[in-house]
Amino acid sequence: MLISKDWGRAAAAAALVALLAACGGDEGEKGAAKGADSTAAGTAAAPGADSAAGAQAAAPQTTGGPVSGLPAGPTVDAPPNEMGRIMVLEYHRTGSPEGEFVRTLANFRKDLESLYAAGFRPVTMRQVMEGNIDIPAGTSPVVFTLDDATRGQFYHTAAGEVDPNTMVGSFEAFKRQNPAWGTAGMVMCILPAAAHPSNFFGETPDKGTPRAQREATIRKKMEFLLQNNYEICNHTLYHARLDRASNTQQAMDWIGIGEDSIKAYLPADYDIVTFALPLGMWPREHSAAWQGTYRDGKRYENRVVLEVSGGPNVSPFDNRWDGHSVDRFIVAPGALERQLERWKADPTNRYISDGDPRTVSYPASMAQYVARDRLGGRTAREVAGAPAAAPAAGAQPAGAAAPAAGARR
Ligand SMILES: [Zn+2]
Repeated sequence: MLISKDWGRAAAAAALVALLAACGGDEGEKGAAKGADSTAAGTAAAPGADSAAGAQAAAPQTTGGPVSGLPAGPTVDAPPNEMGRIMVLEYHRTGSPEGEFVRTLANFRKDLESLYAAGFRPVTMRQVMEGNIDIPAGTSPVVFTLDDATRGQFYHTAAGEVDPNTMVGSFEAFKRQNPAWGTAGMVMCILPAAAHPSNFFGETPDKGTPRAQREATIRKKMEFLLQNNYEICNHTLYHARLDRASNTQQAMDWIGIGEDSIKAYLPADYDIVTFALPLGMWPREHSAAWQGTYRDGKRYENRVVLEVSGGPNVSPFDNRWDGHSVDRFIVAPGALERQLERWKADPTNRYISDGDPRTVSYPASMAQYVARDRLGGRTAREVAGAPAAAPAAGAQPAGAAAPAAGARR
C-alpha cells in the first residue's frame, strides 16, 4: 500500500517550492545565524568548559587493542568524558558551490577522513538517545544526519550497485577501507511525498519512471539502509513548515502520515524514533512534534526531535539533555574544520568514550550534570583529569586553572 503518492499532490508541488527555498540556503532560515560558528561560544560558559587538562593531549594517535572485536584505529589521548558534547552533523545534498546545505562529495569524503583521524566513530541517533554508545576508549561518537532524501545522497548504478559517487556509496567505501570506523550507518531523514529531487533520493521525477519500478527501487534502498545499520528518520510528508499548519491536527497529519508513508517500505515492526523538524520550525503546539494522533486515532511518538542548528549537543547522560530538542551541527563551509581545530586545542567539552558501555566516566567538573535517573543500570564514574601515561599533562585534574594551558601552548 502506498499512501503518500496519492496524498496531496498539489500540496507536494507547493512544498517543493518551500523545500528548494529552504534547503537552497535561504538566509532567513531559523537558526542559520546561530549556526556552527557559535558552537564553542555556546558551551564556553558551561562549568567544565574551561579546563586546561588535555590541551596538549589531543593529538590523535593510533593506539590500543581490539575493542568489540575491532581494531581501535585513531584515538584521542585525553581522559574519558562521557558527559562531553556530541556532534549531530547535518548534510543535505552534494554539489558545488558549497553552502549551508550543499557539500561537495570531495569534502564529504574529506569529512570522513578528518573525523576518523581525530578519533570519531559514527553512531545512530537511536544509539545516542538510548545511551548505547559502544565505541572504543579514546574515541568520540558522531551522528551523520542526511536530510530530504535528496540529490547526491543515494543512487544505484545502471548495474544495480550502490553508486560510489553518492554520500551513501562514499560512506560504505570508507567503512570497508577502515574497519575500525565501525559498522554504524547514517541517519536518513526522509520526505516520502516530496517531488523531485527529494522523492526518495531524487533519481528521476516521479513521472520519469513507471510507478512499480520506482517503488521497487525505493524498497531496495530501504533494505540496503537497514542491512547496513542506517537509521530511518521522519522529516514529514513533504517538508511543510509546521508553524504554518492551519491547526495542530494538520501538523500532526504531516508528521503521522509522513511516518506511515515511510513505513510502507519498512518491516512492520520498525520503530521510527527520530524526527527532523523541517527548517527547524515548530508547530504552534510544540508537543505535536513528539507525539500525536492522526487518521482516526493512529498514534506516533518521536523520542528524538532534531533541530536544524545549534552546535554540538549535550550528552544523553547530562541532565540538560532534551531528546525533544536535539541540536545539530550544520556542515557549512569551514565549520566542521574549525570545530575539529577547537577540540584539538582543547578537548575538554568533547564526549570521549571510556571504552566500557557499562560505565559513564566524567571529570569532577561535570558531576553536577550527571543525570542519575537516566543511567539505566550503568555506573557513573568520576575520573582524574590526566592520563597517567602523559607526563607533560602531569597530575592536573580536569577543571584545573586555565592559564597553564596557555603557558604551554
Ligand atoms: Zn529538510
